[in-house]
Amino acid sequence: MTYRAPVDDYTFLFDHIVGLGQVTATDRFAEATPDVTSAILTEAGKLCEDVVAPLQRNGDLHPARLENGVVRTSPGYAEGYKAIAEGGWVGMAANPEYGGMGLPMTVTSAVNEMMSAACLSLQLAPLMSQGQIEALEHHASDAIKDLYLPKLISGEWSGTMNLTEPQAGSDVGALTSKAEDNGDGTYAVSGQKIYISWGDNDFTDNVCHLVLARTPGAPAGTKGISLFLVPRNLPDENGNAGVANSLKVVSLEHKMGLHGSPTCVMQYDGATGWMVGAEGGGMAAMFTMMNNARLGVGGQGVGVAEGAYQHALGYALDRKQGKTEGETGTIIDHADVRRMLMTMRAETYAARGIALMCAVAIDMTTATDDPRWKSRAALLTPIAKAFGTDIGNEVANMGIQVHGGMGFVEETGAAQYARDVRVTTIYEGTNGIQAMDLVARKMMDGGEAAGLIFDEIESAAEAARATFPKMAETVWQASESLRETTEWMISQNHRVRFAGAVPYLRAFARVLGGHIHLQSALNDQGGAHEKVARFYIQRLLPEHDSLLAQAQAGDYDVYALTPEEFAA
Ligand SMILES: Cc1cc2nc3c(=O)[nH]c(=O)nc-3n(C[C@H](O)[C@H](O)[C@H](O)COP(=O)(O)OP(=O)(O)OC[C@H]3O[C@@H](n4cnc5c(N)ncnc54)[C@H](O)[C@@H]3O)c2cc1C
Repeated sequence: MTYRAPVDDYTFLFDHIVGLGQVTATDRFAEATPDVTSAILTEAGKLCEDVVAPLQRNGDLHPARLENGVVRTSPGYAEGYKAIAEGGWVGMAANPEYGGMGLPMTVTSAVNEMMSAACLSLQLAPLMSQGQIEALEHHASDAIKDLYLPKLISGEWSGTMNLTEPQAGSDVGALTSKAEDNGDGTYAVSGQKIYISWGDNDFTDNVCHLVLARTPGAPAGTKGISLFLVPRNLPDENGNAGVANSLKVVSLEHKMGLHGSPTCVMQYDGATGWMVGAEGGGMAAMFTMMNNARLGVGGQGVGVAEGAYQHALGYALDRKQGKTEGETGTIIDHADVRRMLMTMRAETYAARGIALMCAVAIDMTTATDDPRWKSRAALLTPIAKAFGTDIGNEVANMGIQVHGGMGFVEETGAAQYARDVRVTTIYEGTNGIQAMDLVARKMMDGGEAAGLIFDEIESAAEAARATFPKMAETVWQASESLRETTEWMISQNHRVRFAGAVPYLRAFARVLGGHIHLQSALNDQGGAHEKVARFYIQRLLPEHDSLLAQAQAGDYDVYALTPEEFAA
């Protein structure tokens, strides 16, 4: 089964669940009318179905390689990237002043999700550029903006983010790359960065690296980190890519998946760079990029889940095995295959709804600067990232199961989804780190932002009681238990919170999913949304109970064994 863009689902979620209307009612996003949005989704959907999806296997079978220091990309990727860039999709959310479309993040997220479903390894290239564009829009000088933004937005040049070093992974503050002032407004950047996605390619005229490094004498930890823009080729007097900068790709990682995306070890040897933002303000500036990327990576998980679901559904509708009482005579008639397909569909939809809720909060923050929207966006970002990517993994894995033995055989393509999506729970801050962020930094408001969400879920559930009393009660109760656990969590020290953080985040997502499904049922009574909502609320939502019990179990059990006892 070939990929089919789920445009109707996005439209339904925009119109009935996440409230895109409130975004487009603002001056900032007034141009994204329903007609425009619908045309965008249709156009992007066609590109993903016809141009991007056919590249998915190419990347897996013919990985990117390093030839004489130059990255050679997988067959068809250059043409695919060109089509993405020419469609304006790299600069979808970017400022129109520099050539962007200025679209809401909500619409951008839907397009990015479709592209991830079609070909995750290629989609990572524009996603990296989008993050860089946003970071430069917020933090760069006018001169840098004028020179770089139009080229990044048009896709002529591409962007990367360089945080990780061998000794500095999750602990970014441990990085040691250096930047010395050249005295002419530029810096000499030196050091090694590892795992740099799309660190080079053979289809853009330039590759612009945003590099975190320390200036001489800078304080230890994150406070001493600054951000530098370091292009592969230095711009000439006309602003075109000129002579090569002092940096190179040393090697590419051999990975379990995502083969089409070159993951580079980069060496900077006094490369010329320009500081972006204030000295010592590197992490703040990079966070602009990382927050965008976190939602984007959550969307990658949702996209792959959708791709894997469609793939498994196609197989289930075709494969004949065993006697069935159903009408098709294929494995889709078996109860367990139905269970898997329903789970895949219901989970993907919940994760998509959460990602779009988060995107709406980001758009409302951009449009109104209202601190309540800002706190909501901040709270939802780690949930969208971690739940979206967990679901991507679980659904892709279930997709293999639906295929039976053929799922384990590479030629069906089912395994590729699982291999490709695996990294999404790791990069952009592991999901464990996302959960810690949720229970610590995102609860520094005393649970206010979370409380507002519970109020909203509970009043919506109250209103749904007349139509769906049982489902409404289940969602209401789930929200109330989550509220109680949140209050308990806030009263604990960080060690206890961290021990329960991962189950807490998942329980939060479960409840948000219940809310999204319940509202969807209300807006599609008797239709497919109601049927899927019943499945989710009866079979998947109850997991929140055991998750909340785990969240409140304290830190003793997890630390009970000493490292010696583990090793014994
Ligand atoms: C394919 C791929 C692409 C990537 N692309 C990029 C890129 O473009 N740019 C870039 O800069 N980086 C990139 N990365 C790096 C990625 O962001 C890191 O791998 C990730 O942040 C984790 O760091 P680490 O691998 O050093 O793991 P570690 O930090 O060593 O973590 C190992 C384990 O310990 C846990 N852990 C670590 N610290 C803590 C803590 N304080 N509390 C609780 N648990 C903790 C982690 O959750 C994890 O389970 C990429 C990685 C991969 C694999």
